[in-house]
Amino acid sequence: MIKVVFFDLDDTIADTSRLAEMARKNAIENMIRHGMPADFDTAYSELLDLIREYGSNFNRHFDYLLRRLDIPYNPKWVAAGVIAYHNTKFAYLREVRHVRRTLLKLKEMGLLLGIITDGNPIKQWEKILRLELDAYFDEVLISDFVGVKKPHPKIFRKAIGKFGVEADEAVMVGDRLYSDIYGAKQVGMHTVWFKYGKYADREKEYLKYADFTIEDLKELPEIIEVLNGEGADKEVHAD
Ligand SMILES: [Mg+2]
Repeated sequence: MIKVVFFDLDDTIADTSRLAEMARKNAIENMIRHGMPADFDTAYSELLDLIREYGSNFNRHFDYLLRRLDIPYNPKWVAAGVIAYHNTKFAYLREVRHVRRTLLKLKEMGLLLGIITDGNPIKQWEKILRLELDAYFDEVLISDFVGVKKPHPKIFRKAIGKFGVEADEAVMVGDRLYSDIYGAKQVGMHTVWFKYGKYADREKEYLKYADFTIEDLKELPEIIEVLNGEGADKEVHAD
């Protein structure tokens, strides 16, 4: 009997990769609008390289971008980048399609809900609170607090421990076959791969760890029914 459904946050609950791309592009555009002497494509690809090398939580992207482009430092351009980046993030943060109705339906079915996410804890909470989704979740586990990253089994064990359930009473839903699906399967949880966003065609070597694949979150309640042996007559795509 399934008792808990865990969700990944980025690109499963919050539509974040699309947002990050838009925010980065708008930042470069605003820097150029305010006089930064660079062309958009060069500056944008340099920014992407920088993020790859220093990580997305590095807080001096725009300073370093000027250095990498061999442009003399000008705080006005950094400010222009920061403003456009933050304004875009504030204005365009969206939940993934059908999140709210799916969470509601799962709640109505009597399930407990949790989030298991990597990333900066304050940034992750900011997304959850901005989307006003906090009330749906009984527990939010952020791997930084546990000292590991997904797919480390410790974060998944900690998650089921929080609810006092067995691994096979829990389902993990996420967009990453490696960190979410392989990670959860290692501890014996049921897994639902959400084929969505920039990882929809990546990490396929871990596909064998996905019990189900969905492209729309609203398919989840039926999957839970199938796992509980209640939906045998219904058609759900199982891998
Ligand atoms: Mg994700």
